[in-house]
Order: sequence, then structure tokens, then C-alpha cells
Amino acid sequence: MKYVSYWHDSAPAFAGATQGPVDGHYDVAVIGGGFTGLAAARQLAKAGAKVVVLEAERVGWGASGRNGGHLNNGLAHSYLAAKAELGKERAVALYRALDESIDTIEALIAEEGIDCNFRRAGKLKLASKPQHLAAIARNFEAVNAEVDPDTALLRADDLKGEVGSRFFGAMLSKKSAMMHMGRYVVGLGEAAKRHGATIFEGAAVTEHRESGGRHLLKTARGSASADAVLVATGAYTSANFGYFRRRIIAVGSFLIATRPLTDAEVAATMPGNRTCVTSMNIGNYFRLAPDNRLIFGGRARFSASSDQRSDAKSGAILKASLAEIFPQLAHVEIDYCWGGLVDMTRDRFPRAGYHDGVWYAMGYSGHGAQLSTHLGIMMADAILGRPDRNPLKGLEWPAVPGHFGKPWFLPMVGMYYKMLDRIQ
Ligand SMILES: Cc1cc2nc3c(=O)[nH]c(=O)nc-3n(C[C@H](O)[C@H](O)[C@H](O)COP(=O)(O)OP(=O)(O)OC[C@H]3O[C@@H](n4cnc5c(N)ncnc54)[C@H](O)[C@@H]3O)c2cc1C
Repeated sequence: MKYVSYWHDSAPAFAGATQGPVDGHYDVAVIGGGFTGLAAARQLAKAGAKVVVLEAERVGWGASGRNGGHLNNGLAHSYLAAKAELGKERAVALYRALDESIDTIEALIAEEGIDCNFRRAGKLKLASKPQHLAAIARNFEAVNAEVDPDTALLRADDLKGEVGSRFFGAMLSKKSAMMHMGRYVVGLGEAAKRHGATIFEGAAVTEHRESGGRHLLKTARGSASADAVLVATGAYTSANFGYFRRRIIAVGSFLIATRPLTDAEVAATMPGNRTCVTSMNIGNYFRLAPDNRLIFGGRARFSASSDQRSDAKSGAILKASLAEIFPQLAHVEIDYCWGGLVDMTRDRFPRAGYHDGVWYAMGYSGHGAQLSTHLGIMMADAILGRPDRNPLKGLEWPAVPGHFGKPWFLPMVGMYYKMLDRIQ
């Protein structure tokens, strides 16, 4: 078994990084080379701005190269819960932004000729327990009537041609998609570079200062200055960006990928070939890879770290969950096991805007594979002085009490959700 992301292992490495020292003055410096940062850099460069991306590791090294590969439209929350928390106007705006995110990615892929197996697969939110279907149905009624008619409620019998497991019904979101995340992020980096962005890898920003509207960014490879800065560092935000560290809770999320399944195995497990998410609080999400591996993920453990040891522990739990959901695959070989950090906010709504001289977009809370490209573009537009379409503008973002970057409280949160899953 390989302890690397399947997306990293099956995509070409980004070959467009600038060599030599980091130096020069730029219109905009983007910190972080994931979907958010690269989409912003491409948009800025297309508009003629001189832009630099400073990435601590490699293009797509963070969550963008480690996720489950689900491009789900609509909110991670139930729409009803979002309406109650945010009010109808913002909940609708956010729902629509997630919808549009997938259109944005589809158009970008076509424009830049990125070969990444994009497909409008549709998403199933699967009821793991009979009593979960009522809540899914209530949410479906509101979504279908108010924001997304491209949805359907499926009963247990309708799932026979969809998933070879026992679920009690589902909501189908037809606009949701999937793609090869590694090929997309490398393609996005190449597109940004083609439009003129300079991209440095191995260039962690260790110090940021602003004076008189000019930003100075220090890295171990040298320093650059810029008129504007976009912080696009997500769950990997470093300690020197304390404002964001106090608001982002970095939580481990883990995945395994089986060997490529045979046609008969696909027919017995995932005949519908959609993205699937279960309704448990500590649930699972799964889809087929372009080569028919089953990519199966979940929180598994409430851990703030993702390294080989932590990923292996979580991988064992995921293998057991996979066997529970798909007993027919209980003995299938697992080829890959990996993990990454998710940038959770306390209310699980993302944040994007301008604070204390810097622009930012982050906090996707495990639902950013689509929104990050879209928000990156929106933040670039805001920096360029174009009409601000940011659906999160003005949403308050208080610090998480007692949180300074290391989420010491995660085990307690884990216990709480486990308890909820037992009683709900
Ligand atoms: C295991 C896992 C599964 C997921 N599954 C899904 C899914 O199926 N569907 C979905 O919608 N979302 C999913 N997500 C979330 C989604 O992947 C993220 O929301 C999205 O990739 C965020 O992109 P980003 O560009 O904001 O951040 P990232 O891709 O994390 O990029 C941030 C980058 O910033 C760099 N960085 C940090 N600090 C510095 C610094 N000081 N200087 C320079 N660079 C720095 C990091 O090295 C990193 O490369 C998942 C996430 C994980 C971890």
C-alpha cells in the first residue's frame, strides 16, 4: 500500500515553477498554491496584473491534492439549517455560489484544455438510518422548491441501480460533478503560468509586514514585495498568520483507494457511478476514480494531524467502514491510504474578504473542492476593483474561544458526534 494521495500519484508533477531566488515587486502576491490561490492568480494574470504565487511546498500539495474528489453543488449544511443560521437571502446566495462553482470549473477546464475527467455525475446524500430519511426529505422539499429544481428524492427501492448497499433513501443533486483533482490542480497552475503568473514552490512565507500600503513577504528563498496580498493557505495556514489561525480549525480527514475494481465489482457496488455521502455525523464519502478504484473517505478519527502514522490508523478504521457498507469488497486490496487537513470554521461556513490589509478566502469546512476555484476568482475580481460578487461579504468571523492554532478540543468534539450518531 502506498501512503500517498492517489491524486498526487496519478497526475504529472507541476513543471512550471520559477527557479532561483524569490525577489521583485508585484501587483499582487498570492500565498498558497491550491485551488484558491491558483484560480486567483490565473484571473489576476489574465487581467494583466503582475502576480506571484508563493507556495510553501508544491502546487496542489495541500487539501487541493488530497481530497475526496467530490464537486458537490449546494451547501454542506442542510439548506434549512443554513437558512435558519444565515437568513434566507445569504443562504440562497451561498447555495447559488456553490452551484456556479461547478459551472465555473467546467468552463475553465474547457477554456484551458485541462484533461481531468470532469463529469456531471450527480451526488447522492444517503440515509444511513431509516429515521434520517425524514430530515433529508424535509431539506429536499425546501431545496427543490426554493433553490435547486435539479434535485430528486429517492426511496430505498430507487437506490437498487445506484449503490450496492443498504441505505434507506437519498437526495439526488443532479448538477454535482467529479474530476481528477491532481490533474486539475496541475492544469490550473499551468494555466496561471501561461497567463503570466510567477509561481515559486518551496517558498513558505515566514514573515509578512505592511508599511505605507506596500507588503513585504519573506521566504527562505528571498523576499518579494507587493501592492496587494491574498492569503489562500486554508487548513495549512502557518503560525505567523495568527488572525486566521484563531479562526480556522485544522481537522484531519482521511481516504483509502482500492485497487481498480472489475466491471462485475463496479456493478455490484457503484452501478450509478455518482458521488456519495452518508448521513451520519461521522460519516463516509465515496466515489469511483477514473480507473474504477473505489475512493472511500471519512473523518475516521478526530485528529489534528495527517502524517503516515495518523493516516495508517485512520486507514484501518476506513477499511472496516468500507467492509461494513460494502461487504462484497471486504477483502479487496487497498492500494492507497492518505490524509489531509480540512479548514473548518466554527459554524462550517467559509469566509472571504479583506482584513487588516490582506484579502483572504478559506474555511471551506470540507466542502471547498468546487467553491475554492470560484472564490479565488471572485477575490481576484475584488482586488482588480471589479464588482464584488463575494457571497460571504460582511459575514462576521469571531475567533474560536481558547483556540490559538492547535485544536486541543478535537477529541471532545469527536466524542460528542459519536454520541449523536448513537442516539440520532
Ligand atoms: C482529506 C480531504 C478530503 C476532502 N474532500 C473534499 C471533497 O470531496 N469535496 C470537497 O468539496 N472538498 C473536499 N475537501 C476540501 C477541499 O479539498 C479544500 O476545501 C480545497 O482544496 C481548499 O483549497 P485551498 O486552495 O484553499 O487550500 P489548499 O489546497 O490546502 O492550499 C493551501 C496551500 O497553502 C500553502 N501554505 C500554507 N501556509 C503557507 C505559507 N506560510 N507560505 C506559503 N504557502 C503556504 C500550503 O502548502 C498549501 O499548499 C477535502 C479536504 C481534505 C483534506
